[in-house]
Amino acid sequence: MRHVLLNPGPVVLSDAVRAALTRTDLCHREPEFAELQGAVRAGLLRVADLPAEAWSAVLVAGSGTAAVEALVASLVPRGRALAVVANGVYGERVAAIAAAHGIEHEVLALGWGDEVAPAAVAELLARRPDFAGLAVVHHETTTGRLNDLEAVGAVARAAGVPLLVDAVSSFGAEELDLERWGVAALAGTANKCLHGAPGISFVVARRAALAAACEPPRGVYLDLARHAAQQDAGSTAFTQPVHVLHALSAALDEHAQQGGWRARRARYRELAERVRATLSDLGVEPWLDPAASSACLRAYALPAGRGYAELHDGLKERGFVIYAGQGALERRIFRIATLGAISDADVDRLDAALRDVLAR
Ligand SMILES: *Cc1c(COP(=O)(O)O)cnc(C)c1O
Repeated sequence: MRHVLLNPGPVVLSDAVRAALTRTDLCHREPEFAELQGAVRAGLLRVADLPAEAWSAVLVAGSGTAAVEALVASLVPRGRALAVVANGVYGERVAAIAAAHGIEHEVLALGWGDEVAPAAVAELLARRPDFAGLAVVHHETTTGRLNDLEAVGAVARAAGVPLLVDAVSSFGAEELDLERWGVAALAGTANKCLHGAPGISFVVARRAALAAACEPPRGVYLDLARHAAQQDAGSTAFTQPVHVLHALSAALDEHAQQGGWRARRARYRELAERVRATLSDLGVEPWLDPAASSACLRAYALPAGRGYAELHDGLKERGFVIYAGQGALERRIFRIATLGAISDADVDRLDAALRDVLAR
């Protein structure tokens, strides 16, 4: 039986991406590796239509959190503070990262799933004069809410504060107009909307932001400026996961061939709407308004009298892995992501599995 992952990454790989994982072994100090790394970095900029003169995609081996931590630790200079918008687990994680590195920060602490009101962001930015950045999560995977970066960016721009974005679960499938929205840098990962294998993450940053990175750096491994300088020189600061990069290269080729982020967003929406229609038939309703949700993931209210475990286990027996709510939402919601190489046949089978499990 085919196992289909409906969690927000890691995702079901396409055959081409899986095959790329077994491409040739490379020494990370040889020109063949430099070529692969260069192609991946260029491909990442292409996803967001960014010119290489002004922007750099810096690879950081690790999960998405590695890129978020590298971004926060590197791009807030010493003696400056960070403003953080938190309306879910991942916004709260950014604040935890700032605390771990001793970075002074102020948090706009919202309820999970709450909308981010521009006026509240303006109030946050007025709290102190030395903010070097406003950190915000684009797609808050906790609830599926897609935060309005354009509106938040307008407030930040008016206050002269650059945006630092956790785009880990949106890069590659949602609109990201970095230039216009005043984004200085974002963190992303291979194994969500880009459909690569887990093991490599990245920061896409304005070159000017990298040039103004924290000095001396707050870490050795998470020093973005060091990674950027080495990668620009065709090298790498530390060993890269070569096979994972082969896979990301194949995934980026597929992303471009399939029509880029617009086509991917349309595909995710189509699948999410099919799942919503099935669930609606079965009396299960969205927990968050679909119009406020990302294309990538939807949160649904757990039906009365049903535990998550029962739903999860019933679906897993039928070949599907769904995702629980986190923290206080664990007993209230479940989540279904439609990322990855999911076919129409998979969704037909999911439709049947949901009817089977929920009708019992
Ligand atoms: C998945 C995710 C992360 C990173 O999670 P990892 O487990 O470290 O890959 C960060 N932010 C958001 C919004 C995410 O969805």
